[in-house]
Amino acid sequence: MKHELPPLPYDYAALEPHYEERTLRLHHGAHHKAYVDGLNNAGLKLAEAREKGDFALVKHWERELAFHGSGHILHSIFWENMKPGGGGPATGPVAELIDHDFGDFEKFKKQYSAAAAAVEGSGWTLLCMIPPFNKLEILTAEKHQNLTQWGAVPLLALDLWEHAYYLQYQNRRAAFIEAWWNLVNWEDVNRRLSCCKGDGDHSSCCSC
Ligand code: MN
Repeated sequence: MKHELPPLPYDYAALEPHYEERTLRLHHGAHHKAYVDGLNNAGLKLAEAREKGDFALVKHWERELAFHGSGHILHSIFWENMKPGGGGPATGPVAELIDHDFGDFEKFKKQYSAAAAAVEGSGWTLLCMIPPFNKLEILTAEKHQNLTQWGAVPLLALDLWEHAYYLQYQNRRAAFIEAWWNLVNWEDVNRRLSCCKGDGDHSSCCSC
């Protein structure tokens, strides 16, 4: 299976002024593409290792697989989590769960923004449904693959790598976080949540 860079669901300039065209072109066309290429390369190298029965470098390629695979998955979610004219309070089923699990939307938003601002170095903040707990949690990730929680299904992802915002916002990460809230695509968040809601059988939960 060869992974491919997914096209954006909107034009490069469509998220202006909150997310400028120049940054989005670089982020999607260069950074995300590098993760896709790296994931494909890791898959090839692991296939070669299996053919040769030589796993001397398996630790290296497994790390590459985790790093580039997580990068590809999270960026794909990040694009779809935004839309032109998005933002506002959560809607639909995820809004009810946010109220239930975080008290209300403002408390959730404050915790999400605080967790995002506190990420050390490069990383992500993710609103996740944790199927074993049937509960929403805000999780943070260092880089892509560290400190993640097995079984988590990302619903709402915010990229805090500097390449995501530095050209436009420089060191004002908090301003980027605040602007990003104007782009959130809650229909997409709900679509992702609906993939987790089975009949109480956790195995029916899938990432989508
Ligand atoms: Mn990124």
